[in-house]
Amino acid sequence: MYNVGDRNKRGWLAKLPKNYRLALRLFIALVIAALSNILISIWFDTPKMASIRRDNQRLEAEYNILQSKIRSAEHLLSDIKHRDQFVYRPLLGIDTLNIPQVYADYNDSKYSSIDGGSYNEILVDGWKNLDRLTRSIYYASLSLDDTQDMAENKEEFSTVIPAIWPIDRTKLKNVSSLYGMRVHPRYGYWKMHEGIDLSAPKGTPVYATGNAVVLRSTWQPGYGQLIELNHGFGYKTRYGHLSKRYVSPGDSVTRGQVIGEVGNTGVSSGSHLHYEVRFRDKTVNPIHYFNKDMSPEAYMDLMNQLDKSTTNN
Ligand SMILES: [Zn+2]
Repeated sequence: MYNVGDRNKRGWLAKLPKNYRLALRLFIALVIAALSNILISIWFDTPKMASIRRDNQRLEAEYNILQSKIRSAEHLLSDIKHRDQFVYRPLLGIDTLNIPQVYADYNDSKYSSIDGGSYNEILVDGWKNLDRLTRSIYYASLSLDDTQDMAENKEEFSTVIPAIWPIDRTKLKNVSSLYGMRVHPRYGYWKMHEGIDLSAPKGTPVYATGNAVVLRSTWQPGYGQLIELNHGFGYKTRYGHLSKRYVSPGDSVTRGQVIGEVGNTGVSSGSHLHYEVRFRDKTVNPIHYFNKDMSPEAYMDLMNQLDKSTTNN
């Protein structure tokens, strides 16, 4: 029945005292039990592990809900932003607030200290979303401060904003150059045109386009005879290539007041007025300010003129 090996083994076991035999068997049984426990825990979760896993899943789901709440807050905010940009600001005649950095994400290194293990990606994502939201709120509050300021001073503001044409439009021959990038008529390379060129006969009266204080009335390279007005609220206007100047620095002028005459001084080819609107020391498109007293047809006419225009600085 038994082979030699078995007999020898049995013999070997049989030689041990009974207690030792029992202890050895117990030991082997324990080792087998421990091993199978390890194997089972690899293939199947222990109750504790299963509950941790359930918790994690719940947390992940909650986290995703949180993320979508952040996203819907962003939507809400972009709605407010839209109304601010396209309703309140135009209503008050304020130029669009433009802070490009607001929309740019922070550098990834900002999030490198986040240690979320296998959840790192969703954690970093969450942080990014929250940062984006914070920046948008900051932007909106800046913008609102602006708008509130303007609304409180609307009456004064409406008189100072550069809102009329700087020359009589019946004297206007054509708009020879609009605001924006163009090939410079004299220098021949691409250059920003910071204003609008209104061709008109020499001597045509030039009007202050809003109530202001004269900042400069001088000869300046490029501009020729130049008048610069400070309207307050961040607005300034410049009138270049004049033939005559009637005002001096410190003078107060009112909208429609004649401050000089159209000419051909400075870097200019042909009699015209170079008119600039500056908001917070950056030029803006004067056309946006003319729109207030312009019919849609007149605006389209102006735009069509651009195609046929000859530039004269
Ligand atoms: Zn010009």
